Amino acid sequence: MRKPDNSLRGRLVRRYTRLLTADRHTATDADLRRSALIIAPHQDDETLGCGGTILRKRAAGADVWVVFMTDGRQSHGHLMPATELAGLRRAEAVAACQVLGVAQERVFFLDYPDGSLGAHCPAATEQVAALLSKHNPAEVYLPYRAEPTADHQATHEIGRAALAQVGTARTVLEYPVWYWHHWPWVSLRQSDKRESWLVLRHTVQALAGVRLVRNFRYGVPVAGVREQKLAALQEHRTQMTPFLPDANWLTLHDVANGEFLDCLLQDYELFYRCEYRPQGH
Ligand SMILES: [Zn+2]
Repeated sequence: MRKPDNSLRGRLVRRYTRLLTADRHTATDADLRRSALIIAPHQDDETLGCGGTILRKRAAGADVWVVFMTDGRQSHGHLMPATELAGLRRAEAVAACQVLGVAQERVFFLDYPDGSLGAHCPAATEQVAALLSKHNPAEVYLPYRAEPTADHQATHEIGRAALAQVGTARTVLEYPVWYWHHWPWVSLRQSDKRESWLVLRHTVQALAGVRLVRNFRYGVPVAGVREQKLAALQEHRTQMTPFLPDANWLTLHDVANGEFLDCLLQDYELFYRCEYRPQGH
């Protein structure tokens, strides 16, 4: 992270980083070899939240499948026709997964409309449950339960409902993406006033970082695969570059002036890990 400054924010980030990397459970070789289904709301969440972990698992020989819940049509829907953008994002996701070591036949698209996944929970649950039954992954990766965006919350709930429907014990790893968008990880004062308010709201919800330190007690070291993770992320060209020559085409680099992306490219990927056990067992 680029902040060796002595401000309160700089000092807190360093302190939190120490806490988040010491006294945690670190993935073992046996953990890395376990098969996994990654459930991602949008095309880029798989890499942002779990890209390094996927790379390490594939290097360890684990089976990994990725399922995308929505078609991603909203990210720049005001600048490009929805079907065109959805098509681009699907191709980008296939390319990113390829870089992560996941072949196209192991990547699934459920194509629910970006932004309103919550209106399709029963049907989406059936589809995720079918994937769980068919592939029987030992681990399931879901967005963190307190993610601040609606599709991420809906994905969490759908994943949980699918686990319950299938009823097999598995390890659940909840990953943060937009949850990082709070002080001190990003500055309170942003150039866009609306974003400043959003950061403030997220900061209150996240107890100024305390909740993250308390809950994310499992980490996968990913410094050794950082370049590959970044290469996978670059495949999401509509999200990483001004895809059209239009000043309104914002990218992940623009979120909190780059501070948000820094959070997702740290030396560890952190997870809230819990065991799912069917009731009565
Ligand atoms: Zn997302």
